[in-house]
Amino acid sequence: MKDGDRRDDKTAASLRKHRCASVLSANVLVLNHNYEPLNLTSVRRAIVLILKGRAEVVKHNDSVIRYPSGEMAVPSVVRLSQYARRPPVRVKLSKKSILARDNYTCQYCGYSGPGLTVDHVIPRERGGNSDWDNLVCCCVKCNIKKGNRTPEEANMHLQKMPRRPAYIPHMGYSKLMIALKQEEWREFLLPFVRER
Ligand SMILES: [Zn+2]
Repeated sequence: MKDGDRRDDKTAASLRKHRCASVLSANVLVLNHNYEPLNLTSVRRAIVLILKGRAEVVKHNDSVIRYPSGEMAVPSVVRLSQYARRPPVRVKLSKKSILARDNYTCQYCGYSGPGLTVDHVIPRERGGNSDWDNLVCCCVKCNIKKGNRTPEEANMHLQKMPRRPAYIPHMGYSKLMIALKQEEWREFLLPFVRER
């Protein structure tokens, strides 16, 4: 182990004890060497990557953290020093990804809170598929009210037509959804978003 590494590990250890635990556990956007968004990590983990020379800061946020031997602006976006090869992630159809796509909001009444489920727009018993364009996030109340009917029959209107969500090939879908809520990251994300 090199001296520099030992010092970096010591700094990382003191960061672990830092009282601003919430600052250290906040999300940092990780870009690949070619600037493609890859992941979200914690501020703590991002600082370790920077200290080890495995990433560089692309953008800071407004806060500063102090540790015994100095202080450091808090990273918001980091870029890996070397290109990381990752297999592309296709967005998997699941209850979790349907809810994330629909922003955890019932697509009939707009309710957002606990107890959300997935509704088949055209009911399964009537030939409706379990696919991106036939599944929506739905509250239990609307799900019971709609029953085995189409939205037209139940006089319930969808807020928007469901479709396969846009995605970034190497970033997990629920992480992308979290990242897109951060205004300051959108310039890094949007150029890499694919529609299909
Ligand atoms: Zn509802």
